[in-house]
Amino acid sequence: MLFVKVAILSLLRLQQVTVNDVELTVAMIQTEKRTFRGNIRVRAANQFQRTYNGALEITSKNNELQLVLTTTEEDLVAAIVSAESPPAAGSAAQKAQAILARSWIRASKGRHGQFDLCDTTHCQHFKEPTPAGSKAAKETKGLLLAWQEKVFAPAYSASCGGRTKTAASIGWNDEIEYPYFEVNCPICQRDEPYWTRRISEAEAAEIRANPNKEATRLHIGRRSGWAALPSNNYELASLQIKGRGHGHGLGYCQRGGAGMAKQGASPADILRHYFPGTNIIGSR
Ligand SMILES: [Zn+2]
Ligand SMILES: [Zn+2]
Repeated sequence: MLFVKVAILSLLRLQQVTVNDVELTVAMIQTEKRTFRGNIRVRAANQFQRTYNGALEITSKNNELQLVLTTTEEDLVAAIVSAESPPAAGSAAQKAQAILARSWIRASKGRHGQFDLCDTTHCQHFKEPTPAGSKAAKETKGLLLAWQEKVFAPAYSASCGGRTKTAASIGWNDEIEYPYFEVNCPICQRDEPYWTRRISEAEAAEIRANPNKEATRLHIGRRSGWAALPSNNYELASLQIKGRGHGHGLGYCQRGGAGMAKQGASPADILRHYFPGTNIIGSR
């Protein structure tokens, strides 16, 4: 069985957390680290409650709690599918998402040094596994997406606006292990709605200087919220911006994958479409 170490709730910068009804503070952890195993109920910041499965080690660093969960790769795949792909997407799309999530985990191991991954947008957001997410993980167990025989960390986003992007076109050069191609997405081409936004003079200047680039989207999103500039697929006219799609637009389009699943495509059909030249490898 393969295990993954994930830092959880790091964005909350916790000084206090309740685990299995035990309240823990930085001061308590400084003398002795704590470990919990099995089904672990975590409550934090009066608003967050979730059950994790695995071993949770709690230490402190810079006056903040550090929670590192060691869980199985398959549990994490189920948790990612549950966050990224609702049951309405269809079973084939959920299975495609499971293969992508597993490949991403496998290729991203050790990304943070003492642990593998974090649960922020830097790495991968995930939820408590739903029955549908667990089913998709189980039914694709061990399957991975590979380019030239090598498993890579495939990119995915909510919707592409009609055509997926190349990495170069959005100015994304780091950690590239697969040469993303532009792929037509007939489902988004046909019926994905356009969005429009009014933006500030400062944002317009930033976009003009570096249009349709992921760095621009992330910079504006971090400052003004992710709805401020939904995708990299847009045109700017004065202070009005009009575009289509949600997310970076690279690799798998979740909206298009759900559409293909409804038309009867298999997980392999979906992955071959959005990642030309790749193979599904591994055995169950
Ligand atoms: Zn991370
Ligand atoms: Zn699409």
